[in-house]
Amino acid sequence: MAYQALYREWRPKDFSHMVGQEPIVETLRHQVETGRIPHAYLFCGSRGTGKTSTAKILAAAINCEHPVNGDPCGECETCRRLSGEESLDVVEMDAASNRGIDDARILRESVKYPPQAGKYKVYIVDEVHMLTTEAFNALLKTLEEPPSFIVFILATTEPHKLPATILSRCQRFDFSRIPVRQIAGRLREATDGAGAEATDGALMAIARAAEGGMRDALSILDMCIGYGRKIDESLVQTVLGTSDRGFLFRFSSALAGENAAEALRLIDELMRNGREPSAFARSVCDHLRTLLMAKCCGADIADVLDLTDETAADYVRGAEGISASRLMEMLDLFIALETDIKSVSSPRIALENVALKCCLRTAPVDTLALNDRIAELENRISQLQELLKKGVRPASEPKAEGEGEKPSAKKASAEGQPKPAAKKKPVAADDQGIWAETVKQLLRTEPMIGSFLRSGQLVGVKGAEYRWQANPGFEMTVPQLNSPDRKSKIEAALSEAAGSPCTFAALDRNTQAPDTGEESDDDYTEELADTFGRAALQVVEDIPPQG
Ligand SMILES: [Zn+2]
Repeated sequence: MAYQALYREWRPKDFSHMVGQEPIVETLRHQVETGRIPHAYLFCGSRGTGKTSTAKILAAAINCEHPVNGDPCGECETCRRLSGEESLDVVEMDAASNRGIDDARILRESVKYPPQAGKYKVYIVDEVHMLTTEAFNALLKTLEEPPSFIVFILATTEPHKLPATILSRCQRFDFSRIPVRQIAGRLREATDGAGAEATDGALMAIARAAEGGMRDALSILDMCIGYGRKIDESLVQTVLGTSDRGFLFRFSSALAGENAAEALRLIDELMRNGREPSAFARSVCDHLRTLLMAKCCGADIADVLDLTDETAADYVRGAEGISASRLMEMLDLFIALETDIKSVSSPRIALENVALKCCLRTAPVDTLALNDRIAELENRISQLQELLKKGVRPASEPKAEGEGEKPSAKKASAEGQPKPAAKKKPVAADDQGIWAETVKQLLRTEPMIGSFLRSGQLVGVKGAEYRWQANPGFEMTVPQLNSPDRKSKIEAALSEAAGSPCTFAALDRNTQAPDTGEESDDDYTEELADTFGRAALQVVEDIPPQG
């Protein structure tokens, strides 16, 4: 026997074999029995909730010669024809693929002719929100003065995209997500039917991953059976590996964390699992959009996007660590990719390129990203102003005062009394010690920064600037570490360890390793002049003791 996908094999042939949607099924049965059939139905609901199956059953039931309790009998001439899919009386159109003016014309012409065998000519239009304006107009014209034998069943996942003129002429049914237990029940039947074995946990895991859609659930089960006859939870995880939300979350956090290596590794994993780059780009678009909405609306997205509460909570958590402007920046790149990827010879390269753009932030500068950076700079300036107000000199000390001791510690001993902002004791006696402590601390709080820092070393300290250089082969971490937010995190940790304000610079290997001996107050004065304006600067040799 030829292989048939499980979701086709288990597609219900009549209402009594449907899973879920009980109120809708009851209403439709009643309509079939009483013969009160409206000219247009609108079936709304997320994917895999049974809209198309219901439409097919309904089309058969209203044409059946001897319906049984509102179900098609399955035996009469009409039913046999319909199950053989050779009937001309039921026309299925997928608006997502048949979108041209021609289809609109064909539609307008063909509705004139009565059905060949049954009572009704039924048009099932899937994804009806995708129709072109011309096709909508043709449809509307038919709906305004429908021939008595015409029934339209329009199905859509996005009813809000339909014109009010269409909505007002349809009898609307909203399909809800099928509960996890009901899906698992059908999966159990399908597993037994296929002669496979599965644990309850595995079937529940599949049902959860399908998020209320029977078709997705059966497709996942199909893939699992393809791997082996014994299905347990770990097999389900393996199969879901690259197709589930977890993977998308890993991918988006790699992008947000500017972890280029991880993003490329995930794309490679994707390709090895035979996924389509363009389909994945679309999933990433959806995913980033959901994150962005979670950022803006919080848990309300459960209603807005019709998500389960669990999923909504995952997104709200996922959006916590990423700024809205960053999400928009990435979403823009992926929206553009969705279009571009269709015309390039290597979709994989296009996908990798956009992932790298997200990570390395070489996207055209947009004002939102600039706003982020300005806010960051303002923050740092005000911190600096605060320190200056307290009379602390954050930078270098005259070199004559000796080596191997931190400036603040020196000053404290020289004046007998430590300064308020500088009174903290450094955690180590020398630069290397302070550096080691900083890295250790960052590995705990900012593991990515910490591990970047371990791919190079401290090459010198000039004034209060800690200079770091990447080991050969790790140069890609330099711009990463110099990015404003990373830099400020490193500087905060350094300042904490040193007990006084410090700065950080990641150097290219092309840059000369700095001379550690020479330090000058002039550099620091220049920096301050740049920041605050020369007029605001008064250089004093010694800072007066605190009052
Ligand atoms: Zn029949």
